[in-house]
Amino acid sequence: MNMEFGTGVRLDKVEWAALPGERWRNAGCNARLGVHGKAVAVSLVRITAGGIQAFGWSVLTHDRAGALLGQPLKAMFTTEGRVRPEYFDLEFPLLDWLGRVNSQPVYRLVAPASFEDTPGPFSVPCYDTSFYFDDLHLNDDKAAVELMQAQAQEGLSRGHRAFKIKVGRGAFYMPLNEGLQRDIAVVNGIRETAGSSATLMIDANNGYNFNLIKDLLLRTRPANIFWLEEPFHEDAVLYKHLKEWLAAEQLGVLLADGEGHPDPDLLIWAEAGLVDIIQYDLRYYGFERWLALGPVLDAAGVRSAPHNYGGLYGNYASAHIAPAIRGFLFVEWDGGFAAGLDDTAYRIKDGRVMVPDRPGFGLELDDKHFSGQVRLAGWSVA
Ligand SMILES: [Mg+2]
Repeated sequence: MNMEFGTGVRLDKVEWAALPGERWRNAGCNARLGVHGKAVAVSLVRITAGGIQAFGWSVLTHDRAGALLGQPLKAMFTTEGRVRPEYFDLEFPLLDWLGRVNSQPVYRLVAPASFEDTPGPFSVPCYDTSFYFDDLHLNDDKAAVELMQAQAQEGLSRGHRAFKIKVGRGAFYMPLNEGLQRDIAVVNGIRETAGSSATLMIDANNGYNFNLIKDLLLRTRPANIFWLEEPFHEDAVLYKHLKEWLAAEQLGVLLADGEGHPDPDLLIWAEAGLVDIIQYDLRYYGFERWLALGPVLDAAGVRSAPHNYGGLYGNYASAHIAPAIRGFLFVEWDGGFAAGLDDTAYRIKDGRVMVPDRPGFGLELDDKHFSGQVRLAGWSVA
């Protein structure tokens, strides 16, 4: 693709605001954190350059924006249209801008030459990540399971076919054994509601230990768990034992890790076969760094599933990286809405997010609303 970089175009304006939004439903505790709640904030930077406005997630500071002002856009990209490392803190707005200038969705800009359009919209598998400990007020496992099954039903009606369930109730919020029983009942109960063709993952947020996770996995065998995320803090010795035990038990559960503050050796362990799926965060690790890492993981036979929770923006942006990573598994979908951020071109259907064939990241900002938020609680440099 011959890309247009806007020769002579400079960064004329940078605006920041966090748009208040809401999840579809309140999100409760996980194994270590308290109630996540309903409110989310979408931290967005809008840039203006060459008369074109573009925007994306960024936590750029006012000072940094001032330093970037007036710089030529062309200097911010490589000749292949990759954002240069010095500008990674502005990567989402820049890629959106590049897409708009070239009338291309970002997924096409970053896809390998072998990328081929298929009939219908470009789509990527996604999973509903909304299954927190929303049942802690209930004493009875049966009522808890019914509550979580109702949530799974809601996910199905929103088009989801893959569901990630938080486990680890016995780590802190419930007595150990009661929590373990509840986790098992919830996982098996959600499988019942989701049906045999759905994909189920579990996420322990490091709230288990080696023996307890074996118990959980044996007793949820009928639920056919696809991946187990963060059973306990990553540890090469214990992960080796766990992989050997899974193989001996003929449990096809994959091991996923890497969100938050991962062990520096995690990639080495993954390449050695101790971890199957890497989950570095899409926004804070970064889109461009994921673009570089994905093919390395592909070569090692390690799968990719970028973490994305809180803030909505990653729901959309994650999908654009998928064509560039052969082993990309799922977009983590933290569903909700934020007034002023128009995501209506995206749809979820049959477990996949349909990505709009629109320039940039395929999202639009309501100018009046965003400008109002910039004035109210944001900043602007021009
Ligand atoms: Mg997680």
